[in-house]
Amino acid sequence: MSNLETSLQTPPKRLDLTAGYDVERVRQAFPILAETIYGKPLIYLDSAATSQKPQAVIDAMSRFFLKENANVHRGVHFLSVRATEEYEKARAKVQRFLNAEHVEEIVFVRGTTEAINLVAQTLGKTQVHAGDEVLISAMEHHSNIVPWQMLCEQTGAHLRVAPIDDAGELLLDELERLIGPRTRLVAVAHVSNVLGTINPIQRIVELAHARGARVLVDGAQAAPHLRLDVRALGCDFYALSGHKMYGPTGVGVLYGRRELLEAMPPYQGGGDMILSVSFEKTLYNKPPYRFEAGTPNMAGAIGLGAAIDFLGELGAEAIAAHEQTVLSYAQQALAAVPGLRLIGTAPEKVGVLSFVLDGIHPHDIGTVLDREGIAIRTGHHCAQPLMQRFGLAATARASLGCYSTEQDIDALVTGLAKVRELFQ
Ligand code: PLP
Repeated sequence: MSNLETSLQTPPKRLDLTAGYDVERVRQAFPILAETIYGKPLIYLDSAATSQKPQAVIDAMSRFFLKENANVHRGVHFLSVRATEEYEKARAKVQRFLNAEHVEEIVFVRGTTEAINLVAQTLGKTQVHAGDEVLISAMEHHSNIVPWQMLCEQTGAHLRVAPIDDAGELLLDELERLIGPRTRLVAVAHVSNVLGTINPIQRIVELAHARGARVLVDGAQAAPHLRLDVRALGCDFYALSGHKMYGPTGVGVLYGRRELLEAMPPYQGGGDMILSVSFEKTLYNKPPYRFEAGTPNMAGAIGLGAAIDFLGELGAEAIAAHEQTVLSYAQQALAAVPGLRLIGTAPEKVGVLSFVLDGIHPHDIGTVLDREGIAIRTGHHCAQPLMQRFGLAATARASLGCYSTEQDIDALVTGLAKVRELFQ
């Protein structure tokens, strides 16, 4: 066996969680959490924007560049075959992660944004016509609004918006009422990036399918927190981003039911998405390759595969239980901060805590907390219509990950006391 083959067979380091979910051990898997910011320990409460990366993901990507790098699907040489195997192995990991029926249903894309644009510009452009309707909800990220607005402008279709209540829950009766005979597509977030609300996707799918509409689920904020099962959800499309789920940036997934992907025209033209090309006519490849024009993000896909392994080692249920404990602690602790109002209080939610503090601009909150080494997000969170729904221009948002602790929340509360001292 060559040195290369031997080194490629070295198994990646595994996280030992045999004694149960030990958040300190989990934290040790993330080198960046040992950093100090302005001389203070990093308190990272911005996982909804992007999660931190465990060593296993960093190692898998370094390993690819150090030992396996070659272009996929093209070469006959050893490394190209190896890179292709690793890339396709990552696709199979995503298939299992989503419980998709077929591996061909997994399309690698740049992220959730590209996944949604892909569906809008392929299935949307061919199946949505003037007078048809696309239904979204009031809590969508701009990524799940703008591509549909663009489609509506191109086709003469109409965008409809299902409202939410003051707690940040979808009004299902209203949503049902808005699904009419012209509704071609319902596109909705599994989890809101501002409110943390978990939407009842199965029920939404039932309602939409009963009227012949397709359902796309924006899973960007669900993938790091929930066990996913696209077959149980029954959705037609599911979009996610690697970087929100402990994987790298620049890679994400579009899941699409096989028969739908097969009927869809290509998104972009180029290498790999073709069967044959002549100046007279090009024959397109089958899914998923039809939708993966050009050299893909190979290291990204492999890194995403490593992130899926990492999530599997922790266990979706164990992560959710841990995060729910920290979330409850945070909700109580923040509710006790004078003048603080939580935005997003649905009973079914993940660890996303948006809030406003009486008379203090969210950017000021973020800036003061930053000097304490605390990273939170401030602004409209790419959800301006949702901000308008709550009569706000911006919120501060603390968001949790598998490594978040009650000590992080204590630090946040202490930081907020400092903010109040300075501004009130
Ligand atoms: N949808 C939701 C709910 C999000 O939170 C985000 C990112 O914040 C996106 C879509 C877009 O994801 P990306 O920027 O990775 O494409």
